Amino acid sequence: MSLDKCKTCGDFMFDSHKCLPTWQVVREDQYDDSEGCIELIYSSDASSAAENYVDYNLENWDYPDEIVIWVKKPNDINWNKYTVTVETVSTFSATLIIE
Ligand SMILES: [Zn+2]
Repeated sequence: MSLDKCKTCGDFMFDSHKCLPTWQVVREDQYDDSEGCIELIYSSDASSAAENYVDYNLENWDYPDEIVIWVKKPNDINWNKYTVTVETVSTFSATLIIE
């Protein structure tokens, strides 16, 4: 069985798929008044929008420990400010060297 992804939000579509709310998200140090610097993120709430934004973009950044993120609903005027802390998680992989 394979699940289709929503063409709007990119999430997997279960029976009663409804896109999550949208949030405008930008890194504080990348905000420059241009439209293109702000990303639209689908997420259930503002704090997870900030986390998802960092998750999607982290590989393009130089892995900062903490990032200041601004989040707001598209129709809101005022931004909410979050810090997102990046924690590295240990992963383990075994490689067979002698059989
Ligand atoms: Zn959707």
